[in-house]
Amino acid sequence: MQIEAKPRRVLAGRIGKGADLLDALHAVCREANVRLGRVEAVGAVERARVGYYDQKARAYVFQDVPHACEIVSLLGNVSIKDGEAFVHAHVALAPAGGRTVGGHLAAGTVVFACEYMIQELEGPPLARAHDEATGLPLWDSGRSGRGAG
Ligand code: ZN
Repeated sequence: MQIEAKPRRVLAGRIGKGADLLDALHAVCREANVRLGRVEAVGAVERARVGYYDQKARAYVFQDVPHACEIVSLLGNVSIKDGEAFVHAHVALAPAGGRTVGGHLAAGTVVFACEYMIQELEGPPLARAHDEATGLPLWDSGRSGRGAG
């Protein structure tokens, strides 16, 4: 499925030390009423929690990264899940002298410093619904077409 959208506002800001990265991105979107968009960020985290979706088990396996890392890249999107703005983001994280780790950004990732840019898009609502083939809450054309959420 696919929709067509056009650029609207860009919100650029900073998330403060100690904040939960995913919660803070959700709060920015909800406070600014961004319901469709793209998200990018760079910065550093004090610790992180990232997920990997086990395709056979159909469940996320989470990894705690208990040390400081650079956010090499955070890329994500904003759509609607359960009627609310929902941020889906992936991160690549670089610890001191170690191997880069990454995955699906989960709650429990604590910001050291973070600069974000959120590009709001104007278009038909994009809502998530359970996808039988993957077990994931994916974008669903039927729901978005009816303006769910
Ligand atoms: Zn993901």
